[in-house]
Amino acid sequence: MSSTICALATPPGAGGIAVVRVSGPEAYAVVGEIFTPRNPAKRIAEAKGYTAMLGHYHLRGEEMDETIALFFRAPHSYTGEDVIELSVHGGNAMAQGLLEALYLAGAAPAGPGEFTRRALENGRMSLTQAEAVMEIISAEGRQGAALAKSALDGALARRIAGIQAALQTLAAHLTAWIDYPEEDVPEVSQAELIATLSEQRDTLDQLIAGYGAGAVLRRGVDCVLLGRPNVGKSTLLNLLAGFDRAIVTPIAGTTRDVLEQAVMLGDTGIRLNLFDTAGVRDVGEHGDAVEAEGIRRSWKKLEEAGLVLAVFDLAAPLNEEDLEIARRCQGRPALAILNKQDLAGQGEAFTAAQQQLAPYFKAIIPLTARDAASLQPLCQAVAQLLGTANLDPNAAALCSARQLSAAKEARDALAEALNSQEDGFGLDAAGVCISDAQRALARLTGEDATEATIDEVFSTFCVGK
Ligand code: GDP
Repeated sequence: MSSTICALATPPGAGGIAVVRVSGPEAYAVVGEIFTPRNPAKRIAEAKGYTAMLGHYHLRGEEMDETIALFFRAPHSYTGEDVIELSVHGGNAMAQGLLEALYLAGAAPAGPGEFTRRALENGRMSLTQAEAVMEIISAEGRQGAALAKSALDGALARRIAGIQAALQTLAAHLTAWIDYPEEDVPEVSQAELIATLSEQRDTLDQLIAGYGAGAVLRRGVDCVLLGRPNVGKSTLLNLLAGFDRAIVTPIAGTTRDVLEQAVMLGDTGIRLNLFDTAGVRDVGEHGDAVEAEGIRRSWKKLEEAGLVLAVFDLAAPLNEEDLEIARRCQGRPALAILNKQDLAGQGEAFTAAQQQLAPYFKAIIPLTARDAASLQPLCQAVAQLLGTANLDPNAAALCSARQLSAAKEARDALAEALNSQEDGFGLDAAGVCISDAQRALARLTGEDATEATIDEVFSTFCVGK
């Protein structure tokens, strides 16, 4: 029998209310020991599910804070067990006192994600839904949360179930035909086999292709601002952040280290984890060692970033340092920002810069970092580049690296099944690949997940969820 656990379900610190959740077979008994109803005629043990009760909690015989208890009877609760949620005044003091009282009454502190894990074990949700819970909690933008919510509502589970059903029908047919050749099982036509396999492979391909954009919406993207000193990187950072985060000065070399700032990019729903780097320039052999180290870090950030905004100064011709930056951006998710358009207009300087930079960037955007109106075209270009512009937040989406890797395995197995037919192998060869795909999909949904996989999923959860 499982233990009775408790944990703070709201974030620690000052706040209106704090909620402590208790779950397990002894939840009613434990709470009964520490909670006195305001109305002496009421009994905790008799409280029905989906009802509330007002009272106080006690710690070592002393009456503590006013408390509201919300009751959920098994199996109609988040975990599927008896659950009681206790609300007290926010801030740490009363919530910690309540937890201490519950421990003294016999409840154990919950581990990370233990409530959700119990929900999984009691069949209240699937593994993909448990992962969606985690994504909803950590999503910062509304679009990202919508994406995670559609997974919680089962959009992904339904899409995968559709693939599984199609493969199951195919596999059953193939098995019957291969294992009982003497029976009159109608042969699966190769055209039918190929059509079904292609269709399911395409569905997996769509899910896989949408993963990157979905992850950007849920988790944000590391974005590096790169450019020679004085091209306007700090000004652009301030435009994105909406306030003066970085020191903007006309002296070359002002930004010496990598600054970090998280901003929501306009209305795109994308959180940029911005790194404004030291201006990259050749400091020479006898240059400033601190600045040189800053520049080294800038190049490193360029390699790691999910988005590069390389800034160039339209008011001056591009020089060798600019071109070095451009070359390093090739093949990366990089946009060229041609800044100080107010000084240069869209004349010759613009055309020349555009021609020189075009081979290295996914898009080139002229703007005036000093002018807030410049933000909108930049937002559009970023959403386009990262693939979030066309993403339907209500559609089925993979929402963890674990799910992605299982989906890729299933897709590869189906591609191999198709190849086997193209290469003239028999239907049994396709059958083997289809089984591989089915196993990978069962891992994805969690039907076939090992204890180690489940442990890994829950290791990233916070306590209280
Ligand atoms: P950083 O060294 O690349 O971070 O450049 P800063 O953001 O410190 O900008 C250098 C100088 O260029 C400052 O005097 C800014 O005010 C100026 N500047 C930045 N963006 C623009 C712009 O769009 N138009 C004009 N006219 N000046 C700008």
